[in-house]
Amino acid sequence: MKLSHLTNKTLLTDIKNLVGNERRATLLILHHLKEIDRRKLYSDLKFSSLFMYCVYELGYSESAAQRRIVAARILRNQPEIGHKIESGLLTLTNISQVVSATKNENEQKKILSEVEGLSKKQCEKKIFEITGNVLPQKESTKRVSENKMKVAIVLTDETFELIEKVKNLSGKNLSTDEVLNFALTVAVEKIEKTKFKQTKARTSPPPAEVKRTVSSKTKREVYLRDKKCSNCGSLKNLNFDHRMPFALGGLSTIDNIRLLCEQCNQRFRMRARLRANPKFNIDRFLKEQECRRPPP
Ligand SMILES: [Zn+2]
Repeated sequence: MKLSHLTNKTLLTDIKNLVGNERRATLLILHHLKEIDRRKLYSDLKFSSLFMYCVYELGYSESAAQRRIVAARILRNQPEIGHKIESGLLTLTNISQVVSATKNENEQKKILSEVEGLSKKQCEKKIFEITGNVLPQKESTKRVSENKMKVAIVLTDETFELIEKVKNLSGKNLSTDEVLNFALTVAVEKIEKTKFKQTKARTSPPPAEVKRTVSSKTKREVYLRDKKCSNCGSLKNLNFDHRMPFALGGLSTIDNIRLLCEQCNQRFRMRARLRANPKFNIDRFLKEQECRRPPP
């Protein structure tokens, strides 16, 4: 189906109408399931339950079938939630969450009125506030490929926020798996170091070397190695310099840090700028700097 001929306005109006239709259809489906359930028509078709009928006859996924059956049964005792489902105030997910939190009908009614318009996460929080119960979670591990596992875990808000923070700070679009891998690698190294007093050969740089600032340990070792400007041998105004610039991914490691005198340091910086901008006049710049410098 091609919609490229539609105007923006039509496209946006249409989708609203379609979502409305989808919700109306969902409510109709729930009413049908409710009636099929009451008449136990699924057993006429040799299905052991409404769930099996929904999955194997209607083609729903197991979770989608479960949500619809739960909602259809709630609708039987609380017909008033029908219009809330239709208007989008209550989602099938939220209804399932409430039902799994409490079997008490009055409590369900009360909580359902409080979770209107909430997202799945907000709904979980609200249920916890009201009942003090954390929703039962299926802790499962499942192999999904030769080297990948699917793991369902419950995280506190604090841990979840930390993961998001690492993703934002890295600026590298890391996946949750990559964040956990990084955090756990650091944790293993730290534990091994304190518990077994060992320093493992590293495959990835420790966090200190990923910072622009050079650690005092690295400075000491570089100083002992170079002792003078590694370019001209001068002993004056020595600075620690990244061979491969930090901005280009150079780390603050002993191998990538060298001693340079101020003049050489400036010269290397200028070369880097020249590479970035061929019109930049290094000699003029250095002469200007020379004139400004007080005589030795
Ligand atoms: Zn120098």
